[in-house]
Amino acid sequence: MQKETRYCLYCNEALQGRSDKQFCNAYCKSAYHNNKPNAAEAYIRKINKQLRTNRSALRTACPLGKATVRKDFLSKLGMDFTHYTHTWKSSKDNLYYFCYDYGYLHLEDSEKVLIIQQQNYMKREE
Ligand SMILES: [Zn+2]
Repeated sequence: MQKETRYCLYCNEALQGRSDKQFCNAYCKSAYHNNKPNAAEAYIRKINKQLRTNRSALRTACPLGKATVRKDFLSKLGMDFTHYTHTWKSSKDNLYYFCYDYGYLHLEDSEKVLIIQQQNYMKREE
């Protein structure tokens, strides 16, 4: 009976010994499982990608630190307004939504948002 050569699922080395072995050792086994993409990781990566896209859209629309732009302009750049990293409330009680270091405020009277770059004083909790 000819024995079929099996290979480690992680490093692709030929395996010795038991025919049901999948890995050369415990290191390869854990490395394989740690690198295996799973649904939760894929979801986190997708959100991170959206947040980066949002940040990039805000940066593109606001090259000089402050700008008022139409929401549909940001949408065309890939912006998704339901994703943000944190919020900040100004002393005037305006709630800004941030994507990393760029934030925006929904303006009540229009289809526009006010975009700002984060300043050091905004990082304080109170
Ligand atoms: Zn291996």
